Amino acid sequence: MREAILKAIDDAADELVGLARRIHATPEIAFEEAKASQWLSETLERHGFKVQRGVADLPTAFRAERVASPGGPTVAFFAEYDALPEIGHACGHNLICTAALGAGIGLAAIGSKVAGKVLVMGTPAEEGGGGKVLMLQRGAFAGIDAALMFHPADYTLTMRQSLASYRLKVKFVGKAAHAAAAPYEGINALDGLVQMFVNIGLLRQQLRDDARVHGIITYGGAAPNIIPDRAEAAFSVRATDSAYAAKVLEKVINCGRAGAAATGATFEHEAQKGYEAMKPNRPLAEAIGRHLQELGWAIDRPPQRIRMGSTDMGDVSQKIPSLHPYLAIGKNVSGHTVEFREAAKSDEGFRGMLTAAKVMALTGFDVMTNSSFLGQVRADFSSVP
Ligand SMILES: [Zn+2]
Ligand SMILES: [Zn+2]
Repeated sequence: MREAILKAIDDAADELVGLARRIHATPEIAFEEAKASQWLSETLERHGFKVQRGVADLPTAFRAERVASPGGPTVAFFAEYDALPEIGHACGHNLICTAALGAGIGLAAIGSKVAGKVLVMGTPAEEGGGGKVLMLQRGAFAGIDAALMFHPADYTLTMRQSLASYRLKVKFVGKAAHAAAAPYEGINALDGLVQMFVNIGLLRQQLRDDARVHGIITYGGAAPNIIPDRAEAAFSVRATDSAYAAKVLEKVINCGRAGAAATGATFEHEAQKGYEAMKPNRPLAEAIGRHLQELGWAIDRPPQRIRMGSTDMGDVSQKIPSLHPYLAIGKNVSGHTVEFREAAKSDEGFRGMLTAAKVMALTGFDVMTNSSFLGQVRADFSSVP
């Protein structure tokens, strides 16, 4: 059956590469992935999947299902297909979605000999909006025993964390005055905000290494000869666990309060939960690693200090045993750059996508056919807080 899985993916390779090229050439941003969602759904239907479009009230989300045989575990492959504004598919999501399709098509080749269900979940808006968070909240992932997706990178790693994140908007309100004739009658809202940035700069020494605080001034006044009566900024606060991220967020808010106290401006803030940190499932990672080795794909040793961002797959991983491995599609190309966008439509990129499809399908096969392995997956999920 293992051979049947690999053969099904090889047979679909041209179709998958063609689709990856087409989606790459037609970048659509978060929640506007109408064409990609349609093309992916049509391809899955051609391969015998029953596709439900617009799930969880999201027009570009979908759920594709193929029942092998009733009962048994449900394995889901997660597809992302949103592009970045301006720069296009610089995060390689055209490879993520086609790998998920390939894995689904491959695992479906087991026919009806095994009890279980194969899902391909179409999850929009990873780069902004958090499609998976909404789908999770709306119950679209109910019944999934293992969730797998892959992300292209310039290294191959089976396990990597991601950062829990918060978004923060702040507003200082002061009093306008003539900046030369009567500055002493004004209250400088921008000074309050600048002090907030300075306070955050000093705070960094007291933060853990994994903490990230980054922000921009979104409004800083109307003209240099008017004392600004309003100043606004937007920040992201992140850390490897959400409890610590929440603590850092509170400190950052206090930096703003202090700036307001020092200048006499009033301070308003609005904090919003971003994405949860990733909880990678170790047995799933070991299985992916084993299958990569079988296929002769080199795995990199995790560097001491690994680059990390945030993803809505983190939220999924807190509720369902999940894995979000990385496969190399080039050397020294980091995400969200023009170089990475080019790698996402290169032969090396397509090789990574097809290999990811194969190792995810084989891992899905392990989940469906090896109950002690599924037991380990579940045990690991419950043992990690
Ligand atoms: Zn990205
Ligand atoms: Zn991405």
